[in-house]
Amino acid sequence: MQFENPSQSENGLQFKNSPEFARKMDKQDPIGAMRTQFHIPKHSDGSDEIYLCGNSLGLQPKKTEEYLAFELSQWQKYGVKGHFTGDYPWMPYHEFLSEGFAELVGANKSEVVAMNSLTANLHFMMVSFYRPTASRHKILIEDHAFPSDHYAVESQIKFHGYDPKESMILIKPRDGEETIRHQDILDIIEKEGDSIALIMLPGVQYYTGQVFRMKEITEAGHNKGCMVGFDLAHAAGNIVMQLHDWNVDFACWCSYKYLNSGPGSVAGCFVHERHHSDENIPRFAGWWGHDKSNRFKMENSFKPMHSAEAWQLSNPPILSLAAIRASLDTIKEAGGIRKLAEKSRKLTDYLRFLLKDELGEDIKILTPENEQEYGSQLSLTVDTHGIDGKVIFERIEQAGVTGDWRYPNVIRVAPVPLYNSFEDCYRFVQILKTSLEEK
Ligand SMILES: *Cc1c(COP(=O)(O)O)cnc(C)c1O
Repeated sequence: MQFENPSQSENGLQFKNSPEFARKMDKQDPIGAMRTQFHIPKHSDGSDEIYLCGNSLGLQPKKTEEYLAFELSQWQKYGVKGHFTGDYPWMPYHEFLSEGFAELVGANKSEVVAMNSLTANLHFMMVSFYRPTASRHKILIEDHAFPSDHYAVESQIKFHGYDPKESMILIKPRDGEETIRHQDILDIIEKEGDSIALIMLPGVQYYTGQVFRMKEITEAGHNKGCMVGFDLAHAAGNIVMQLHDWNVDFACWCSYKYLNSGPGSVAGCFVHERHHSDENIPRFAGWWGHDKSNRFKMENSFKPMHSAEAWQLSNPPILSLAAIRASLDTIKEAGGIRKLAEKSRKLTDYLRFLLKDELGEDIKILTPENEQEYGSQLSLTVDTHGIDGKVIFERIEQAGVTGDWRYPNVIRVAPVPLYNSFEDCYRFVQILKTSLEEK
């Protein structure tokens, strides 16, 4: 998009490159107080770190400790009876997360479930939705997919006896470009769709922060008879989605990035309602997917639930689900994902404005500027001064910024609406500037 003058943002806000302006934005921020609900790590000088790494590991909500302590005390007091005791019995515990997850991804409650980990869920979803045949055996993913996704897809193809060299289509940006053009995705689906069994793309690309236009990709895929699933690791809790209305077949996400549920916490999964009653769907089953009304009769004839819960295998780790519940309650208190996305847009636009205003050509922002194609994260390359980008990254870390470094040369920063401030953005850009000026 074109900025008419450097301080005019897309939504008409007049941005200024000053600490007073940043503080004024924080004062006017309707959810600015949510920051006090989080533990913000401290820099060595005792000040709050500028934590711009919520896209990698979200910070801990203050509620988390309380919710975990509650489950520990239930276990102390009731032992096995905790499965059926109190307001949050363990037996149906995952159900307490359905409403929050459904709202985050735009689904019906029956379409979402908290289970397993992200990569495990990708596999379980492919068991059901990647059913290759001699004429339709390909999977379309991005060329630089997150390694785990790449490995999962490659191994599924091999598992079915096909050759990844022939069955994996890797879509990449055009030469000299950093992000994949939406039209190029549609074109490849149009051209190769008849041989594609599954399209599996990210909602938000982890390296560039590019948002993929899921609705149109799903439509294009379905027109060609392909299944369409998304990895929402960087999308859940970041952008507004409507998976149900978009007719997405399945989606998976982790809960420890924008969802602040702690390292390695349990993941989420979406299966569109139209697949729930399909009796012929192949599935790796476990007892937690069996009809809950007679699960404990222990009869050995699997009767799947008619919901995403049918894909569950085991009784889930309650301590981890309690952390997700704390996080979802915190998001709810902030007013939900739409409120977060609204602030996120302003924060990220402000960060981009500051970077351009202060650093101009010295850094490059890979993340698209088109309003449909970015969320919280901006990905920067800074090795334009003859200084290694990694050195710049180490300097900003020393100065109290937590971002993250991705090889070969990208610094990713994500101002997160729940706990980051406009002042964080301002201070970050000042620190980055100083780091670039050092010899
Ligand atoms: C974070 C992330 C993962 C991590 O997978 P786990 O199974 O949770 O370890 C996988 N894929 C993508 C795209 C990610 O961003």
